[in-house]
Amino acid sequence: MRAIITFHGIDNKDSVLSYSPALFETLLGSLEACRLPVCSLDTLLEGKTEHGVALTFDDGMQSVFRHALPVIRDHRVPAHVFLTTGAVCGDNQWPTQPNDAPCYKMLNWDEIEALHATGIYIESHTHTHPDLRQLSEMQIQEECEKADTIIEEHLGRLPRYFAYPYGYTSEAAQSISTQRYAGSVTTKLCYLNSNDEIGLLPRLDSYYLKSPWIIRNLDSALSHLYLGTRSLLRSVRGSQ
Ligand SMILES: [Zn+2]
Repeated sequence: MRAIITFHGIDNKDSVLSYSPALFETLLGSLEACRLPVCSLDTLLEGKTEHGVALTFDDGMQSVFRHALPVIRDHRVPAHVFLTTGAVCGDNQWPTQPNDAPCYKMLNWDEIEALHATGIYIESHTHTHPDLRQLSEMQIQEECEKADTIIEEHLGRLPRYFAYPYGYTSEAAQSISTQRYAGSVTTKLCYLNSNDEIGLLPRLDSYYLKSPWIIRNLDSALSHLYLGTRSLLRSVRGSQ
């Protein structure tokens, strides 16, 4: 079983974007206990393993530094942060954010540099977190170019992976991201399959990984069935 897990904030807020620090610790402990290795995206996607999980954090929330980093360091596992570069030092109230979205404080560059120094990969999530379906090819290029340049200027490393903001993509966005990055992730709720397109990789949202049972049995037939059903319900409702 291979899967990419999506997190946003690691904190105790009562929000779909939050995963509690205690549960995060439990999840990493359970993966270790059932010998499911936490891998980098490179390892997971380049056919080096048939068994593993990658951890991804979208947006760049400050709680990743405060609450995820100590656990990641303790467990000595890799992770990837998809950073919205225009929100660094600010909050997540970018123009396309729905009005009822909870407000989160974002990472500053000292914290991002500390994450990078620990071996956490800083990846691209555009500069302003737009809905890419609304943008022209040139605007999408500019969003990616700006984010990548800022990350390279600060860290000396270009992002290798990309997360579509809100999981929304278009033909143009997919074609640009495929040219620029080694892989791009969506919000499609699914384990990885051998026939996945590298520019449209599915992930498991940690929102669905909150029960102790599913955390301990992520690779069980029942978990596959549960997440498959949730995915189907989401697509019926029209959300990704
Ligand atoms: Zn996002």
